[in-house]
Amino acid sequence: MNILLVEDERALSGAIKKILEKQGYYVDAVYDGGEAVDYAEGADYDLMILDVMLPVKDGFEVLSELRGKGCSVPILMLTARSAVSDKVTGLTEGADDYMTKPFDTEELLARVVALTRRRGEVIVDSLSFGDISLSLRSGVLSRGEESVQLSRKELEVMKTFLYEPSMTFTKDMLLSRAWGLDSDAGENSVEVYISFLRKKLRFLGSRVGIRNLQRIGYRLEESDAQ
Ligand code: CA
Repeated sequence: MNILLVEDERALSGAIKKILEKQGYYVDAVYDGGEAVDYAEGADYDLMILDVMLPVKDGFEVLSELRGKGCSVPILMLTARSAVSDKVTGLTEGADDYMTKPFDTEELLARVVALTRRRGEVIVDSLSFGDISLSLRSGVLSRGEESVQLSRKELEVMKTFLYEPSMTFTKDMLLSRAWGLDSDAGENSVEVYISFLRKKLRFLGSRVGIRNLQRIGYRLEESDAQ
């Protein structure tokens, strides 16, 4: 998932970038409204985090310019707490969500996860890797004629892998993406569900497996031999 972060306060920008990267997002940081428009037009981002008070062009100008050009990237606006009417303006101009500063990093992550997930669900209804494919609508994982129903949580974990099949996920990343940030689930839940999914992949006779890289995390892997 690629995020464009537009925030002119360098320290805040750096802090947000670090938090998001820790969760596995790729973040491009730009520091004024002009760059924001150039970057948003030049690449396909899954989300844009847009401050309101910016040099060159403010956040509202950036928002209306992008929407005017048909750019549909989800936009999360950051506004100063004093400017309550900013929220109303932002949402009527086509922002998808807003947060007031100062904000809690957990809350920011929760909004980012919700906005990027929402977009993924609109665009695709099945995901595939190697010899398997997953129907997001029914939660059925299949390989050729063979298929198996995933439970709700197995589906969330498998979806997380399949959205970015080349990515290695730490247990923390899997917890926040599949269980949500407000969940009480711990690292052992991740281990349990990974073992359930491995069992189902074996049942399907798939060449796809979930590899455990010690101290790094889990990744999908496709073996050559069946
Ligand atoms: Ca600012």
